[in-house]
Amino acid sequence: MAKEGNLQAPTRHPLDWKAPAFYDEGALHKEMERVFDICHGCRRCVSLCKAFPTLFDLVDATSNGEVDGVAKANYFKVVEHCYLCDLCYMTKCPYVPPPQFQPRFSAPDA
Ligand code: SF4
Ligand code: SF4
Repeated sequence: MAKEGNLQAPTRHPLDWKAPAFYDEGALHKEMERVFDICHGCRRCVSLCKAFPTLFDLVDATSNGEVDGVAKANYFKVVEHCYLCDLCYMTKCPYVPPPQFQPRFSAPDA
């Protein structure tokens, strides 16, 4: 059953940092664009930290109003505001596993 607003300890899924793709900048940008596009379509976390309004302001400033209009060089303006508090992951997002929307935000299996 999907749960929301819980107080369980955050789960950190392992990163596949030994894979060559982990260091592929093109693959990184592609994944960031995918995730940013999901958040742009949702915007539920806008009040949680500065990362979200930064992303949404960047999208809203584009001519087409879409994530693909944001320069890749600006992606890290979003990332640098994340301090890994896990609030979005643990309390807001409907796309984390195991709920029904998996695997859109799922981490690689260990
Ligand atoms: S983990 Fe915390 S700081 Fe990072 S994006 Fe989510 S809410 Fe913001
Ligand atoms: S709930 Fe999930 S998809 Fe929506 S803005 Fe937050 S992290 Fe992004």
